[in-house]
Amino acid sequence: MQREAMNSMNKCNSRRSMGLALRSARRSLLVGPILALFLSYAASGWSQSGNYEFNDSHFHLTNNIQEGPGVREFLDMMGNKAGRAILSGVPLQQEWSYRVDRDRAPSYYLHSDAPLYYYSFTDALIATAYKSLTKEQQARFDPMITGFNPADMYAANHVRRVLETFPGVFTGIGEFTIHKEFVSGKIPGEVASLQNPALDRLLDFAAEVGLVVLIHNDIDVPFAKEGSEPAYLGEMKALFRRHRNATIIWAHTGLGRTVKPGKNHATRIEEILRDPAFGHVYFDLAWDEVAKYFVGTPEATATIAALIQRYPDRFLFGTDAVAPADQSKYLAVFNQYQPLWNSLDPKTARKVKLENYERIFDEGRRKVRSWESAHVPAVKSNMAKGARVTSH
Ligand SMILES: [Zn+2]
Repeated sequence: MQREAMNSMNKCNSRRSMGLALRSARRSLLVGPILALFLSYAASGWSQSGNYEFNDSHFHLTNNIQEGPGVREFLDMMGNKAGRAILSGVPLQQEWSYRVDRDRAPSYYLHSDAPLYYYSFTDALIATAYKSLTKEQQARFDPMITGFNPADMYAANHVRRVLETFPGVFTGIGEFTIHKEFVSGKIPGEVASLQNPALDRLLDFAAEVGLVVLIHNDIDVPFAKEGSEPAYLGEMKALFRRHRNATIIWAHTGLGRTVKPGKNHATRIEEILRDPAFGHVYFDLAWDEVAKYFVGTPEATATIAALIQRYPDRFLFGTDAVAPADQSKYLAVFNQYQPLWNSLDPKTARKVKLENYERIFDEGRRKVRSWESAHVPAVKSNMAKGARVTSH
């Protein structure tokens, strides 16, 4: 509380000193250049881009056992490289089964045959980490709700409950997973499906609130035969068609560790991009396992770069870093993509790295705050109190 009060005092002081600077500038007839300087300072404060290299649309603060760096440590890793980042945990907790793994405590889903389970407390951890920050630090994050089972009709109820418990915090849902190599089969109970009405109920609610949706769904099964229609492409398109009012980011363009881009991958993605019915669908380039395809050969880089150049507003960079230990690990995927950055014109590169994030997540923030002010009792009564105070 004290820190917040000090911050708002600092803001007032800096506003006041800017006002004084402007007045004295006017007096000394230097108003033109100084005003320009002031306006560019104010604009960089608004847009958040400043001189940052990228915003991170796909990031996990914690790993499969809910461990990771503190949020302030992560801010240090972002440093002057990453301006903003989503803040999500990982909803799927790896069980440590003594019967299976004895004393070898697994921390990654591939390191044990024991199951994964949905760990809803991740949302409370993320909200608490976010709320521990100053307002200026919070402005750099877009927390995401992930702790729900997307095969459960009550998933949407969980999301609503999180918004009601932590109003003013979250911008979106995800990354959550429907079909994912090695992962989906490790979750006991009903397997998630793109055809499950529970997912429709979840996305209907996301659209109503304005939550940005970050979904992982492999486009195909692992080791698919070249030339066959990708297993889940048709179902993904049908899902997008059913949810035209939701803002949806398809993570990794549907690729995975063993789900390679087929010869026609770019063509298939372009069919979505050029169809006006899918104007609400975006793609992220996150994960080193995906970057390895797109920068694997000069031809592969040229193909994805040409596609991005044709649809510069529809792609976002994300690291998919999971609980990074230090800055060099955090920046690895951004650096891995250097051949792609070199292949894009500067305006397009800036959109993919910075501006598309700002547009999509700023709109998400605005919509979610507006929904909260209308639907969350605590926010509503605060607003009413505020209205009474200002009307005096
Ligand atoms: Zn993913």
